[in-house]
Amino acid sequence: MSFTLALVGRPNVGKSTLFNRLVGKRLALVDDQPGVTRDLREGAARLGDLRFTVIDTAGLEEVTDDSLQGRMRRLTERAVDMADVCLFMVDARVGVTPSDLVFADILRKRAKTVILAANKAEGHAGEAGALEAYSLGLGEPLRLSAEHGEGISELYSALMPLA
Ligand code: GDP
Ligand code: MG
Repeated sequence: MSFTLALVGRPNVGKSTLFNRLVGKRLALVDDQPGVTRDLREGAARLGDLRFTVIDTAGLEEVTDDSLQGRMRRLTERAVDMADVCLFMVDARVGVTPSDLVFADILRKRAKTVILAANKAEGHAGEAGALEAYSLGLGEPLRLSAEHGEGISELYSALMPLA
C-alpha cells in the first residue's frame, strides 16, 4: 500500500527543492493549459524502495502580504486533507517564525500524521534553529538538507512505517 505525503510550510523553507529531489522528472500531473495556475503540485516520489505520492504546496510564493493568511491557510488545508502524512518544514537557519506557528496550528488541528523537519541544516548551520523547532510541540525535528541530500535516510526511516 502506498501513501500520500504533503510538504507543508511557509515560502522559502525548501519544499520545492525537496519535492524535486523526491520526484526527479516523474511528475504525475502535467498541466499544459495556458493561464492555469496550479497551487498544488503532485508527483510520484521515490525514496529507496518506497514509492509514494508527494504534494508540494507551490503557489504560496506569489501571495502578497495582505492575502497571505487566508490563501496560505486554504491551500495548506487542501494539501493536508489529501495527505496521509505531512512533512512540516521549517528553516533551521532562521528558526521558528510567527508564520511557522500558523502552519503548526493548522497541522495540529487537521493532519493525520505530522513529521517535523528543520531544513537547511547541512553541516552545523542549523543547530540553534533545529533546537528551537522543538518548541512547536510536534516532536523531534528531523535535520534535513533538501539541497545537499542530508538527513534523507532519516526521512526514509520516518516514512517507512507508513508504507
Ligand atoms: P519553497 O518556497 O518552500 O518551495 O522553497 P524552495 O525549495 O524554493 O527553496 C527556497 C530557497 O532555499 C532556494 O534558494 C533553495 O535553493 C534554498 N534551499 C532549499 N533547501 C536548502 C537546503 O537544504 N540548504 C540550503 N542552504 N538552502 C536550501
Ligand atoms: Mg516552492
